[in-house]
Amino acid sequence: MAIPLLDLTLQYHEHKSEFDTAIADIFERSSFIGGAPVKQLEDEIAAYCGTKYCVSCGNGTDALFLIMYAAGIGRGDEVITTPWTFFATVEAIQHVGATPVFVDIEPGTYNIDAEKIEAAITPKTRAILPVHIFGQCADMDAINAIAEKHGLLVFEDACQAIGATYKGKRAGSLAKAAAFSFFPSKNLGCAGDGGCITTDDAELAEAARLFAKHGSPVKYHHTVFGGNSRLDTLQAAILSVKLPYLDEFNGQRHDAAKYYDAAFADAPEIETPVERDFGQMVYHLYVIKSDKCEAIQAALKAAGIGNAVYYPMSLHLQEALTLLPGWQTPSLPVSEGCDNKCLGIPCFPGITKEQQDEVIATVLSVL
Ligand SMILES: *Cc1c(COP(=O)(O)O)cnc(C)c1O
Repeated sequence: MAIPLLDLTLQYHEHKSEFDTAIADIFERSSFIGGAPVKQLEDEIAAYCGTKYCVSCGNGTDALFLIMYAAGIGRGDEVITTPWTFFATVEAIQHVGATPVFVDIEPGTYNIDAEKIEAAITPKTRAILPVHIFGQCADMDAINAIAEKHGLLVFEDACQAIGATYKGKRAGSLAKAAAFSFFPSKNLGCAGDGGCITTDDAELAEAARLFAKHGSPVKYHHTVFGGNSRLDTLQAAILSVKLPYLDEFNGQRHDAAKYYDAAFADAPEIETPVERDFGQMVYHLYVIKSDKCEAIQAALKAAGIGNAVYYPMSLHLQEALTLLPGWQTPSLPVSEGCDNKCLGIPCFPGITKEQQDEVIATVLSVL
């Protein structure tokens, strides 16, 4: 029986009438940009994350860019980040004109290694941009302490981690500002592209909002140069339907992850994800690490089981980086040692034990 890496049809069918009503409602009004549904979603996300403000935008990549642009990060500045993430994290740094500086990751969690950050700080460093990779918060107390000591800003790339907690607080409320993505496969996904920023900083929120709408506080009056990045009304309405179920969906991901943990506990060739005790991970991806990654992947493919390598290549080794002036490729052995060895396996809300058993048997058959 084929098992997809992610099955989004389950949540659609479970809540079909709510989605259909919300979508029909938007078409009845036929007002597709901005309006009450967008404002409502922003209020709901801010309340959910525990922040004062939420500014919606076109996607998670834009959210990262808007945060840094609004915070005045630009040419000549360095931003410290992780090589183990989706490329958008680094693109946002480059797009504001700043230079990314990579710090190696921790084994097991794949998050930036806070203990290695200080050595990467230079007089040009302005900010640290950790990524809550695979749905687990980076060690934010340690990162914030370093930032405070050196007068740096901290931003969260929380695109994979909506709902994750760190010492009782939610991702999105753990630094100066945070970026979220509503890409369909994310834990809170819409029916296309979408994203938002959360922050407690009124000025940053206002600046991000201004840049996202052509630097125009009043229609056809432009005080600064901005761009166009907005969350469609239709997407906001869809997200408002899904948000009340997010904790339930994340809980199902967590249960499925623990089931895999137990099943792979006696397989020394499989490294399961390490969940730190400072909060709840939301398992955007359940990633196993193995030297036999290629063989496992082939077996899964033959069995019709969805999977994907996260990630094939650390970002500091990507060709695009060589386009940065003066770029020198750093050596980051932990991250490099994960290249092509980490495999995401099906771990979605609604996955059944029978499906998981089949995934487990297929993985173990290779060893
Ligand atoms: C998905 C993702 C992004 C980008 O979000 P988009 O909505 O696709 O632009 C950025 N960072 C991380 C870590 C992501 O997983």
